[in-house]
Amino acid sequence: MEYQKLIACHECDLLLRKPSNVRGRRAACSRCGASLTALPGSGLPLDWICAVTLAALITFCITQTFPVIEMRANGMMSEATLFAAVRSLWSGNMRVVAAMVFCSSILFPLIELLALLYLLVPLRLGKLPPRFNSMLRLIQVVRPWGMVEVFMLGVLVTIVKMVSMAEVIPGPGLFALGALTVMLGVVTSFDPCGLWAVRDEIRSPRMAGVRWSRLSTGSGHFTRPLRARKAGSSPVITAQRAGLVGCHACGLVQTRIERQMHQRCSRCRHMLHERRPDSLTRTVSLLLAAALAYIPANLLPIMHASTLGRSEDDTILGGVAYFWTSGDWPLAVVVFVASVLVPMLKLVVLTLLTVAARRGSGWRPRERAGLYRIVERIGRWSMLDVFVVALTVTLVHFGSFAVITAGPAALAFGAVVVLTMLASHQFDPRLIWDNAGPRIRPQR
Ligand SMILES: [Zn+2]
Ligand SMILES: [Zn+2]
Repeated sequence: MEYQKLIACHECDLLLRKPSNVRGRRAACSRCGASLTALPGSGLPLDWICAVTLAALITFCITQTFPVIEMRANGMMSEATLFAAVRSLWSGNMRVVAAMVFCSSILFPLIELLALLYLLVPLRLGKLPPRFNSMLRLIQVVRPWGMVEVFMLGVLVTIVKMVSMAEVIPGPGLFALGALTVMLGVVTSFDPCGLWAVRDEIRSPRMAGVRWSRLSTGSGHFTRPLRARKAGSSPVITAQRAGLVGCHACGLVQTRIERQMHQRCSRCRHMLHERRPDSLTRTVSLLLAAALAYIPANLLPIMHASTLGRSEDDTILGGVAYFWTSGDWPLAVVVFVASVLVPMLKLVVLTLLTVAARRGSGWRPRERAGLYRIVERIGRWSMLDVFVVALTVTLVHFGSFAVITAGPAALAFGAVVVLTMLASHQFDPRLIWDNAGPRIRPQR
């Protein structure tokens, strides 16, 4: 059985009443504070998202065509486009790192934009596109791995780094990349899960004629939790306690069928889980692998420079120390935070969350949920150093005068980023709340 008027919070499993519309404001879960972005009318209107997605796709093409940075040294000139950065790593036998850079800065953002337009344009015309479900899932899968904004920061760091060595000129691609970063920020603030409501309204004959517009206007109220009707108490009702389960792909709340081992969502056919299976075991395994890769990432050279017959190896910490001693301390801080502090923070926080969840701790769930959200948000920024290496390798290839190649730490470092991101995706945040006590704070 389906419960169209209920939402199960994706972070704490609290059952909430769905408002008919939240009028462009963000609704948040009253127990854990997670924002409920897939509600009708939350965030920007769909017409806006459609227009920004189209503009982002055009800007994406411009970014790929023109060089992002140009560099002149000793009468020679080199330039870096996004594709050239990938090609340099590929030809320098860093094929795995090249694949990482290609997927995170070119392929995944492109897939997301194309898939969104594929869905939004027909829905805008009141038609349901074929393979609606697969395309929506594709967007949800590729979204966390698209890192154009991190690449943008990587370009800025590379410019500051290179200025002391040669003449660096920002290319037209850089301005397009800046605009693309802003547009993708708008596009990714939209939760594609909300498109299920549009699909349901198109399929329902009685709603014909009001479909798209109803999602951007109308009246409603903020989300209220369901509470047991007992005098003097307000115990929490989670989906699990009510014998229900919320689909993680489309958000639909439905009855949990106990005898069915592999129950699928009645709307999107995605596998339903009360809690992600083997969440803690998988998280611990990925964290261990990431911790092991973190050692060579810091000890081995990340870049190898040959200048006029002299060769030099550069580690991540060596690079930070060089910036610090040469007076570029803001750059030293940025690289240190992104490349050393963030991966370490991710490893420590995820280990703490996993240990607390394994022990069934009910200690400060709101704060732990906040820590989990921080880890989810900052995880991608560690890719900064990989992008800086890719751009530096592309720019500095001046024959016998100066050549920089990527070192083995680039691969280890990329592995740390991917493994810690996978670990945080495998951790089920609902485990934080399972022993958090039966009451919620009063809603204001
Ligand atoms: Zn919640
Ligand atoms: Zn579903």
